[in-house]
Amino acid sequence: MSRRPVIVIHGGAWAIPDKLATGSIDGVKAAATTGYRVLQDGGTAVDAVEAAIVVLENHPAFDAGYGSVLNANGEVEMDAVLMTGHNLQCGGVACVQNIKNPIKLARAVMDKTDHTLLVGLGSNQFAEEIGMEKVSTDDLVTEDAKAEWKEFMKFKTTVNVLFRNRDVKLSGCDTVGAVALDNAGNVAFGTSTGGITAKRPGRVGDRSGGYADNTSGAVSTTGHGESIVKVCLARQITFNMEQGLSAQEATEKALQSMANRVQGSGGAVTVSKDGDIGKHFTTERMAWSWIKDGQLHYGLNPGEDFSQAV
Ligand code: ASP
Repeated sequence: MSRRPVIVIHGGAWAIPDKLATGSIDGVKAAATTGYRVLQDGGTAVDAVEAAIVVLENHPAFDAGYGSVLNANGEVEMDAVLMTGHNLQCGGVACVQNIKNPIKLARAVMDKTDHTLLVGLGSNQFAEEIGMEKVSTDDLVTEDAKAEWKEFMKFKTTVNVLFRNRDVKLSGCDTVGAVALDNAGNVAFGTSTGGITAKRPGRVGDRSGGYADNTSGAVSTTGHGESIVKVCLARQITFNMEQGLSAQEATEKALQSMANRVQGSGGAVTVSKDGDIGKHFTTERMAWSWIKDGQLHYGLNPGEDFSQAV
């Protein structure tokens, strides 16, 4: 069945400081435009998601690829995952180092291995085997990420502080994600992150970061990874859609449930199998954008919704 393509992007849910606001908006708009072009040219949903996330990974305003935060050892360890909804194929890497675009490596895990997740040394070994270009840690780290790391090394409990203490202001940046529906009616999601500043080495926040199934839709999540895992946030959202809720209702309900059940905050973007769009966050801000029917929508603050033609 032929569908009208849809792409929805997030640039992470958290208290985005004003100095990153414009960069975050520009980044999510550029990513949506890139992903939408792939869909218009007949590309698959997973191709569009990957292309959009590469744009975000290369953009310093986000905690993914270039701009990733530092762990407690002052190193960069990144996680990325993607999934396609027609056959539930998925691929991911966790705690990978020195890779410019972890989402491309996640795609290679999906396409070229019998596995769904490679971590640490194993993921880097795989990257070498397939000839993926290596970069130095310096090529991934921004001055903002270094400043945030110094600040957060004082706390020792960053993961909880970041998403539960609104008095703490950060200078860093955040996770990125995308969901798409292609012309053939297939959905996909992708998520990529440097994780959380000063996290323990080896920490993987949310193992999935989303879910995609053509029977309901696709979701990319962001926020307190430990909470996201505990409540299986993305699967809650697709389940809510299976129960008849709209993409927006399903997304809001699941994030509220995560706040109630484990006091965790975050955000998500959703596309239903019919191209219905959802986006919501329980943090102060989340940069988001979507394109459908040639119209680009975007925002950052609660209640915001700007639009322009593409
Ligand atoms: N979910 C990511 C993590 O816990 C962080 C984020 O989305 O901000 O690593």
